[in-house]
Amino acid sequence: MSAIGRRNFCGCACAAALLTPGLAGAQAGPASAGPADPALVEDLVAANRILFDQGVVDGFGHVSARHDKDPNRFLLSRSMAPGLVTAADIMEFDLDGTPTDPQGRAAYLERFIHGEIYRLRPDVGSVVHSHSPAVIPFGVSHVPLKPVYHMSSFLGAGAPVFEIRDAGGPTTDMLIRTRELGHALAVALEDHPVILMRGHGSTVVGPSVRHAVFRAVYTEVNARLESEALRLGDVTFLNEQEAAKAMVTNAGLVNRPWELWRKKAMEGR
Ligand code: MN
Repeated sequence: MSAIGRRNFCGCACAAALLTPGLAGAQAGPASAGPADPALVEDLVAANRILFDQGVVDGFGHVSARHDKDPNRFLLSRSMAPGLVTAADIMEFDLDGTPTDPQGRAAYLERFIHGEIYRLRPDVGSVVHSHSPAVIPFGVSHVPLKPVYHMSSFLGAGAPVFEIRDAGGPTTDMLIRTRELGHALAVALEDHPVILMRGHGSTVVGPSVRHAVFRAVYTEVNARLESEALRLGDVTFLNEQEAAKAMVTNAGLVNRPWELWRKKAMEGR
């Protein structure tokens, strides 16, 4: 009874604050950039479902989009399994990882991955963080992840490996749970599309949600194929020129798999 009373009181207080500009400015979090383009939110919801359906994320992992109205804001689901995300679960954050309007919702512990990458990489419009399994061996061994076929040509310049001990010492829980660790990860990413995180997972970026999802899916597939190929013997990877040309071709084709993946992931739910 008292809990309900408190909640009602809070609801009234927040509503009052919203109606009073002075109070809202003093008490609220960072200012909102306003409603995002509904098409962007729709893509972000689909991205969550697709990444689950394609085996990139499971109960863990997340995908964000830079806000279309303000480069210093980004959109990310509340803390939940990506395969269940709806538009109502999407929250807005500033680059420090502070929600503009939390409404009591929990945020992902590792949201600092997203904000700090958006801060350092103006070219990035979307970030995928996952623990996709086939990639893990390349973060813990000294075998580099390189493109074995044209679909993963974006790996042509290689993928750096983030060693959390360098930034966080030997006693972290492996998570990017602070701005400082997020910054160290973003610095290590440099201008690459993918960074592996030793003993944890990987983070993939792209100019749009669809590009980032494309790369996240094919990073996982490439890792699987590369492990298979290495078992057979010497491997010939795409050379730099092949990778660069294939990347240009693929960049114009992201909508083809997207439509297929979206249909499959959004149906039957
Ligand atoms: Mn993680």
